[in-house]
Amino acid sequence: MRTVPYFINDERVEGSGDLLVYNPATGGVNAHVPVADAQLVDGVVNIARTAADTWRNSTLSQRTNVLFTLRQLLVQHADELAALITQEHGKTLADAKGELARGLENVEYACGLTEHMKGDFSSQVADGVDVHSVREPVGVVAAITPFNFPIMVPLWMTANAIATGNAVILKPSERDPSVSVRLGELLREAGLPSGVFNVIHGNADTVNRLLEHPGIDAISFVGSTPVARHVYLTGTAHGKRVQALGGAKNHMVVLPDADLDIAADAAINAGFGSAGERCMAISVVVAVGDIADELIGRITDRLDRLTVGPGDDPSSDFGPLITKEHRDRVVGYVTSAPSEGITVVRDGTSWADKPGFFVGPCLLDGVEPGMKAYDDEIFGPVLGVSRVATYADAVTMVNANPYGNGVAIFTRDGNAARLFSREVNVGMIGVNVPIPVPIAAYSFGGWKNSLFGHSHIYGPEGFAFYTRAKVVTTRWPQPSESQIDLGFPTTR
Ligand code: NAD
Repeated sequence: MRTVPYFINDERVEGSGDLLVYNPATGGVNAHVPVADAQLVDGVVNIARTAADTWRNSTLSQRTNVLFTLRQLLVQHADELAALITQEHGKTLADAKGELARGLENVEYACGLTEHMKGDFSSQVADGVDVHSVREPVGVVAAITPFNFPIMVPLWMTANAIATGNAVILKPSERDPSVSVRLGELLREAGLPSGVFNVIHGNADTVNRLLEHPGIDAISFVGSTPVARHVYLTGTAHGKRVQALGGAKNHMVVLPDADLDIAADAAINAGFGSAGERCMAISVVVAVGDIADELIGRITDRLDRLTVGPGDDPSSDFGPLITKEHRDRVVGYVTSAPSEGITVVRDGTSWADKPGFFVGPCLLDGVEPGMKAYDDEIFGPVLGVSRVATYADAVTMVNANPYGNGVAIFTRDGNAARLFSREVNVGMIGVNVPIPVPIAAYSFGGWKNSLFGHSHIYGPEGFAFYTRAKVVTTRWPQPSESQIDLGFPTTR
């Protein structure tokens, strides 16, 4: 049985594998993955610190060159990387390539680092005095990532952290860790000096060691809300800057004037793509006014045409869930739904009787706040429908929800859409766009329980997060201009 190696100081390093990596399409064990103990973490931090001291002095053109080459290598190896993702995550090959493409955007954005790293300059702020600002790397970044985007989320963090002159220790999800090791090898091939990018594996103990380690300067975390909260509180208590992105419950509000075919397409794409295992998946369709029956009819027409199957079968629209435990949890929301007063319009739970970790598409009608199927992030192919009377009721529902990652509105009314985007307490809003993941030049982040810390991830906020500001005030006195003045310096 294969054991997934660490990637430390440019080498594959074998560890003894304790955790199991499954092929979710078959339910079989694919590989073992080791758990980094405190000693291993300490060793990697030392390596990364030494590498960071050198890499911070690399030229901007050297960094750009590495990132350009990485982009090329990721494109060249797209099929291989997608196959690795599908094997361990279960998503379709097309979906795996889609996440790689979104990750690539971040590499491309980071290639513009000479522009993004520019400081400001003010001449003659006082007589003979100039001021300029620079941004310098924070040092060593720990990147801790979730299972559901095994290449995109590591690239969200790694591209910008490296571009800004930091060293990175990536701790990917233990459920689909292999593609991160390949990322390390491609970065090595791209010319990144050894020790600047390292991959370690492990569980909560490994993460906690990173959170407490004095040699780590910044933590980028993406995962579930309880862990994000813990990471934020522990990391900041140990003096680190932390951005911790958590879970979600994303609403799609459909106003009575919307094109219902377009809305139904969007609900299917965003609700069932990647088996609903996306932090920006639509979880609840909020039907406003009297359109619910018509909309549900159009959604079920489409849902009945979906094909569930292994991710490497081109005819599959979506694949299995990540683990047996997660599949059983998702099935539980559907089987308990009638006891909460919910109508199960489509029940895909019989898929759970087949090999692998599958659940077929499920549609629940009458999902409301206070019900488990509404309150929890289900993270599976289960779409809920809520019926509300007015636009104001829909806004109240969205704003009362403790999560605030993404939301979408479907309407033909530009003014309603504009009002909605101003009124909702959510970080990313789509107008007739169901999965409004910002392009890499804008930063990604939710509000409320979907993000702890003030910094969104990637884009301009990513560059700011991975750097510290310095402001230099300069005076070149005239010869023999000597003068003693104990007053506080002013510009007047
Ligand atoms: P998770 O929180 O279980 O794991 C994320 C990472 O934290 C993994 O590397 C894991 O090893 C580690 N971890 C797990 N438990 C820990 C603990 N107790 N202490 C310290 N570290 C721990 O998340 P997941 O199941 O891998 O991913 C799915 C979740 O991630 C969903 O909630 C989803 O919404 C969220 N997510 C959010 C975003 C976003 O941008 N907001 C993006 C992708 C996924």
